Amino acid sequence: MNELLQNLTRLQALEFGEIKEKNAKATIVELRGKIPQQILGHYDRLVAKGKKGVAAVRNQVCTGCHMRVPIGVVATLMHDTDIQLCESCGRYLYLSESTGTKAPEETARRKPARKVRTSKNSSPMVSTPPPAMPLALNELGPGKMQPGLRPISA
Ligand SMILES: [Zn+2]
Repeated sequence: MNELLQNLTRLQALEFGEIKEKNAKATIVELRGKIPQQILGHYDRLVAKGKKGVAAVRNQVCTGCHMRVPIGVVATLMHDTDIQLCESCGRYLYLSESTGTKAPEETARRKPARKVRTSKNSSPMVSTPPPAMPLALNELGPGKMQPGLRPISA
């Protein structure tokens, strides 16, 4: 998990009293100082509505609203390249350590050549292109050689 998400989840846990620290107030101030204003603003708007600003992703599902999170979002979280918002509830997402990475690994193992993103809906369509390739090569091979050989031997 990247530092920003770590700060956000820690801030939330402190503000919601999920973790108890002696200097919780000082830590909250410190964390708020580290998190970019724009992100903090979005977080605070959610909290002001009585929601949590950050939600874990488990089994590719947002634990804040229980809606499915797109595999691309999960992949981004896995690679820690960017922070992601839930499309449904607008919470910042982070991967739950235990099971959040399970789904993408499974799909990648089953169809290594394909993009993970497309494997959900279009897997029946995928089976058509492979048989077409060897067939075309077989027809082309002998068909090309014979007309070339005959004029020379005749
Ligand atoms: Zn959500």
